[in-house]
Amino acid sequence: MKITFLSGGTGTPKLIRGFQKKIPDEEISVIVNTAEDMWIYGSHLSPDIDTVMYLFSGLLNTNTWWGIRGDTTVTNDFLKELGEDIYLTLGDKDRAVNISRGRMLKEGLTLTQATKELCKKIGVRADVIPMTNSEVTTQILTEKGLIHFQEYWVRHRGNIGIKKVIRSFNEKPKATEEALEAIKKSDLVIIGPSNPVTSISPILECEGIKEALKEKIVVSVSPFIGDNPISGPAKELMEAWGMPPTSEGTYSLYRDFTNVFIQDIRDNILIEDAFRFDTLMINEKVSEALADEIISTVRELI
Ligand code: GDP
Repeated sequence: MKITFLSGGTGTPKLIRGFQKKIPDEEISVIVNTAEDMWIYGSHLSPDIDTVMYLFSGLLNTNTWWGIRGDTTVTNDFLKELGEDIYLTLGDKDRAVNISRGRMLKEGLTLTQATKELCKKIGVRADVIPMTNSEVTTQILTEKGLIHFQEYWVRHRGNIGIKKVIRSFNEKPKATEEALEAIKKSDLVIIGPSNPVTSISPILECEGIKEALKEKIVVSVSPFIGDNPISGPAKELMEAWGMPPTSEGTYSLYRDFTNVFIQDIRDNILIEDAFRFDTLMINEKVSEALADEIISTVRELI
């Protein structure tokens, strides 16, 4: 069974980990959000792509869901000693990946090509596909002005009022051919429980994605229980986005192309035609059980 995921860097990778027990990595494609990317400290940060690549290569630190397990921070610490403004901690190996990607992009490779190269080098057998090759950035309008999402979430730890969420770009983002092809070839598409505003919507906004999804069986999983996300700033962001920070708000964003919507068994805001499973993926077992539930739910549909 070929499955394509739409993913950010935490909730969906947790679900993918469950699916890895069910189907070979070669049958998994992941279209990844790149609207949190930035050029920083002289190299290219692509946090969601890295989390997904590290997951498939077995390098991921699954305590934090970012960075490489056991990585050191020698360079980071010395940069601080040199007086550099370092608000985002990068491990040494993680930074090496950022440097390598930055070099490839500067040499003219697309983000898709650079990602493919990196995947080859670290032994990824799944298809990790950036949503687009052009630059798109989620910016947050705060009382301190317009700042990059990383500044909002990492430098200010989200402790700053949000007025608006803005997606900025020079050219209107177009889905990569690889992303559209992956959707077309798959038996099932899963929109994982990632942040609807900063992780999934940037992918859906890429030209071609929504139309491609409408042709497929799509399962979407809510990242909310009641009116709170499991982690991260999704509540504040949904509110600034003009959406209730709930499964209902999430469903209204995905409804047009979703066949099966999944909310958590603990969720007290009931959606009539939703399926209810344990989606709180506190460990690999829960992720695997959720993958089983999804596979048996869609079996009759595909
Ligand atoms: P980011 O790129 O690091 O922001 O990560 P994502 O967008 O992929 O994931 C963040 C979202 O994952 C948050 O909105 C969380 O509510 C959701 N999330 C994290 N862990 C879980 C989980 O175990 N179950 C569910 N249902 N959602 C989760």
